[in-house]
Amino acid sequence: MKGRVTIEGRDFGEIEVAASPFVNAHCGFAFFCPDCGRVWAEIRIDGWKMFPASIPCREHHRELYAPGGSIWMSYWPHITDAFNREILEYETLRHLEIYDQHKSTFA
Ligand SMILES: [Zn+2]
Repeated sequence: MKGRVTIEGRDFGEIEVAASPFVNAHCGFAFFCPDCGRVWAEIRIDGWKMFPASIPCREHHRELYAPGGSIWMSYWPHITDAFNREILEYETLRHLEIYDQHKSTFA
């Protein structure tokens, strides 16, 4: 299925998402920030319903293990496997920023 990713209004282009063996996994996501109420990112997949993902935006990121501003959903591999290089670069940089922000707390 063809899909499209936008993060903070930036279009990351088209992705091709494979069907999942899990029936309930056929949905796209609107990333809703529980702090400011914004939908700051979307993964839209043609013909699939949208589902809310309550994940903080980058401004309201607080905790290392709840990475605000990231759309990485490791429990939805049929979607993350479809991420193109632009999305992967965004995710890599976002996780490096988060690590940088929290690294002193590891000591
Ligand atoms: Zn927010």
